[in-house]
Amino acid sequence: MPYDYDDQNIFAKILRGEIPSTPVYESEHSLAFPDISPQKKTHILVIPKGPYRCFDHFVQAASAEEQLDFFKAVAEVAKQQGLSEAHGGNGYRIISNSGPDSLQEVPHLHVHVLGGEVVGPLTA
Ligand code: AMP
Repeated sequence: MPYDYDDQNIFAKILRGEIPSTPVYESEHSLAFPDISPQKKTHILVIPKGPYRCFDHFVQAASAEEQLDFFKAVAEVAKQQGLSEAHGGNGYRIISNSGPDSLQEVPHLHVHVLGGEVVGPLTA
């Protein structure tokens, strides 16, 4: 099934500089910034710069270079935020909501990186 992409979503506006954000990491194909409503001590969102609605869309349509860049961006953010065990942190959780059942609010792929404290049960 082809995916639509609504370029008026809030992350598309952040990427175009129409809405302010405070990036904590940027690469050729990815951007990371704090969640406006943090659910844990550390709560960063990592997004691809390309127009992908959700994880499935990204895997179907993004180039291998964009996909590798995105996964590396997530790991880089975890390292930079002091969360990765490999870099002295105490671990973290990544979540990506995809579609209605997940209650995805913003229709631009994003991974939540949560940590800095015990994150809690997998689902509420
Ligand atoms: P989701 O429910 O997975 O689509 O998550 C969307 C997330 O985007 C929520 O955690 C919101 O708090 C966050 N969010 C919405 N608007 C902004 C914004 N302008 N800057 C940073 N995070 C935002």
